[in-house]
Amino acid sequence: MTLTNARLSRRSALSLLGSAAALAPLPALWPAARARDVKGSHTFKHGAFEITVVSDGSFTLPMSFVLPTTPKDEAEALYKSHGSEPVGMAGQMNVTVIKTGAATVVIDSGGGTDFMPTVGKLPENLELAGITPDSVTHVIFTHAHADHLWGVVDPFDGGSRFPKAKHIITATEFDYWMNPDTPTKVPEAMKGVALGSARRLKDLAERFDMQKSGAEILPGISLVDTAGHTPGHVSVLVKSGTNQLLVGGDVLGNPVVSFARPDWLWGPDENREQGAATRKRVLDMLATDKIGLLGYHLPWPGLARVERKDGAYRYVAG
Ligand SMILES: [Zn+2]
Repeated sequence: MTLTNARLSRRSALSLLGSAAALAPLPALWPAARARDVKGSHTFKHGAFEITVVSDGSFTLPMSFVLPTTPKDEAEALYKSHGSEPVGMAGQMNVTVIKTGAATVVIDSGGGTDFMPTVGKLPENLELAGITPDSVTHVIFTHAHADHLWGVVDPFDGGSRFPKAKHIITATEFDYWMNPDTPTKVPEAMKGVALGSARRLKDLAERFDMQKSGAEILPGISLVDTAGHTPGHVSVLVKSGTNQLLVGGDVLGNPVVSFARPDWLWGPDENREQGAATRKRVLDMLATDKIGLLGYHLPWPGLARVERKDGAYRYVAG
């Protein structure tokens, strides 16, 4: 079977995923973690909300993958000027849990057991944090890449790890991955991810509540359009009085490059030009309106402020 004529029936996706050909590009692109493995959780108050960040693990991506069009010496110089080892992307996996009233909202579900060995730690870290799967009322997916979606599947029964939760994703995102043409259009290294995400969305299709960016999921919790990384990517704005926090998903994925050179094309973005435009728009919004950021891949626990610097921006932890 070729990828061109692949149709995303469960059978074809499984057979492709199970083939060495489909998985071959992944080990080279998703090497062992160099970022920090975090145990436990980080809890803070955000106005009326209680927010807990729980780690799903970490991973590292090489420079050649995250900055495919930037000259290597230019990229390395930027990292060094920020006191950072030029590792490309050393990504944490910061899963956000928001408690408000009777609701418990999880934002993204980690990479699960099938993606790579350094992730999939969400279940044990949720347990350590005292958050039971049954207590989760909503799971919001910023997008459907493997490291955000695949962990929702319970490997024992194929159902959701959060049996009582409403599963929320944008219709744009869902439709993009379910389109049988998508695996034929993404870069070669992403084909396995595209097929795997389509399979999981299909298996759990009846659990999903399709929403549009702009939708208010619960009072004070709404979806914000941050398309570019993927076509239906959203961030989640959490607003309590004058306190605002953007749970950004992958809109700003790297503490050096995404802030200092938002114009550099970011390899993991599905639409790199749109990703760059969205970064600039979001950075401007966060700096102007003094909105806090919680980034899925930013250094643990992902909390940051955005400051303007030299015509671009600066990541400030906390
Ligand atoms: Zn990600």
